[in-house]
Amino acid sequence: MRPSPSLVSGKLIIGTALARSNGTGAPAVLTHHPCHRTIISIAVKNEYSIAIVGGGIIGLSIAFTAVEPGSKVAIIDPAPGRGTTWVAAGMLAPVTEAYYGEEPELDLSLAAAARWPSFAEALEHESGCRIGYRQVGTMVVAADNDDRTFIKELYDFQANMGLDVQWLNPSEARELVPQLAPSTRGGLLARGDYQVDPRLVADALVKVAGDRTYDIIRASATSVEPVTTGDHSIKLDSGEYIKAEKVVLCTGAWTSQVPGIPEYISTAIRPVKGEIVRVSAPEPSRLPSHTVRAIAKGHSVYMVPRLDGTLVIGATMEEKGFDTSVRSGAVYELLRDAREILPVAGELSFDEAIAGLRPATPDNGPLIGYIDGIGAVGTSSADSGSGAGAGHGRPGTGKSLIVAAGHYRNGVLLAPITAEAVKALLLGDVGNIPPEVLPFSPARFADTGLTIQTGYSRNREPV
Ligand SMILES: Cc1cc2nc3c(=O)[nH]c(=O)nc-3n(C[C@H](O)[C@H](O)[C@H](O)COP(=O)(O)OP(=O)(O)OC[C@H]3O[C@@H](n4cnc5c(N)ncnc54)[C@H](O)[C@@H]3O)c2cc1C
Repeated sequence: MRPSPSLVSGKLIIGTALARSNGTGAPAVLTHHPCHRTIISIAVKNEYSIAIVGGGIIGLSIAFTAVEPGSKVAIIDPAPGRGTTWVAAGMLAPVTEAYYGEEPELDLSLAAAARWPSFAEALEHESGCRIGYRQVGTMVVAADNDDRTFIKELYDFQANMGLDVQWLNPSEARELVPQLAPSTRGGLLARGDYQVDPRLVADALVKVAGDRTYDIIRASATSVEPVTTGDHSIKLDSGEYIKAEKVVLCTGAWTSQVPGIPEYISTAIRPVKGEIVRVSAPEPSRLPSHTVRAIAKGHSVYMVPRLDGTLVIGATMEEKGFDTSVRSGAVYELLRDAREILPVAGELSFDEAIAGLRPATPDNGPLIGYIDGIGAVGTSSADSGSGAGAGHGRPGTGKSLIVAAGHYRNGVLLAPITAEAVKALLLGDVGNIPPEVLPFSPARFADTGLTIQTGYSRNREPV
C-alpha cells in the first residue's frame, strides 16, 4: 500500500511508521510479514537534531548507521525507498564494475563491499527482515568470439589490478551455470561480487526508522535555508516549515532540483535513465546460481537471480532528463540479449518493466561531504582543504549541511560506507571518515570547471 499525506486537526500528518517490534527486546523472527509497512500518523514536530532530505537507500542507510537511536530525526521524502533504489538490480560488484581510469572509484567500491556483511547482519538483526544479501559470485560471459575478445581485455585489466578474477573456458562456465546457452564462449568469474535485494533493504531500513520513532515525513523539501540561530529551516511542499540543527541532503538524481543549493553541487549531478525488466520462475532452481553479466553480440546485459525466483534483467543507459517512461524497444532488446545467453529467460513469467534515474556526476564518483552556500554556520579552518570533510574554502562554509548524493551506478553498493562517512561528518570527526571516501568531497567540483559528460555512444551499461 502506498501511504499519502493527510490533514488531521488542521495539522499536516505525513508520517509513516511500521509495525512495531514485539517489544520484548529479543531479536524478531526473520520473516517477510513484519516488514510490510503499515501507516500510522506522526505529527510533524517543528524541531529536529537531524533532518535527512531524501529517503532512498543512501538517506535511509544514514538514518540507520549514522544517527544515535533516540536522536530527534526527520526523514523527509514523498515516497521513501521508491526512487532509484526501487529500480536497482542490487549488484554489489566492485570487480565487474571496475573500469579503466577509475582507480579511486575502485578503492571506494572495494571498501564498500567489505562493509556489506556486517551492514546486512546488523540490518537483518534489528529489522527482523530478510534483505536478500547473497554471497554468490558474478560471471561475465561472451556470446561470440568478438565479445570474448572484449571480455578477455577486461579480464587482463582486472587481473593486472590484482583483483580476484578467474578466467573460465566455455565448459568451465557451463559447469558453474548449466543454464548458459551451449554457444556461450566462456568468460570471467568474480567470486566476490555479490548481490542484495534493494527493495527488501529499503523496506527493512524504513521499518527500523519507524521502530526507532524517527519521523518519516512524506513530503518534498522545497527549500533548505540557514536561519540566524544556526539551524536550518526546511520548507515542505505542504507549506509547513521544520527546523533542524543538521541537514543531510540525499536527494539522488533530483539533487539539482532542491532550490538554494550551491550551483557547483546542482550542476554536478544529472539523471541518467536506466530501464530494467523483471521476470520470474515458479521454481527458483530454474535460475542460475550466480549473477550472469554478458556481452551478447556487442550488447551488454546482466541477469541477477533472486531467491524468490525473480530474474532481474538490465539495463539501459540514456540521457533523457527526468523521463522515467519505459521504451518498448528497450524491453525487447533486454529480453533478446538475456535469452541469447540464458535461454530460460525467454520461458519465464513477465512481471515488470521499470525505469529509474541514476544520479550521475562528471567523474562517476559520489559527492560526500560538507557543503557551503546555504550552510553558513560553524566556519572553521578544518573546512578548507580538499578532503571529504572540507567545504570548498569560501567564507561562510559550514559543517551543518552535508551532501551524500551522486552515487550513479553503485548507490546500493556504496550505501554502508557512505553512511559511515556521514556519521563522522555529523560528529565533526573528519579523522574518522574512511580514507577511500576522501577523494569524493563535493569541493572537487567547486572550482574545477569539470565538464559534464553527456551523449553516451552506447545505450547500455557496460559489463
Ligand atoms: C536500472 C538501474 C540499475 C541499477 N543497479 C544497481 C546495482 O546493481 N547496484 C548498485 O549499487 N546500484 C545500482 N543502481 C544505482 C542505484 O540505484 C543508485 O545509485 C541509488 O539508488 C542511489 O540512491 P539514492 O538514495 O541516492 O537515490 P534514490 O534511491 O533515488 O533516493 C532519492 C530519494 O530522494 C527523494 N527526493 C528527491 N527530491 C526530494 C525532495 N525535494 N524532498 C524530499 N525528498 C526528495 C526521492 O523521492 C527518493 O526517494 C542502479 C540504477 C538503475 C537505474
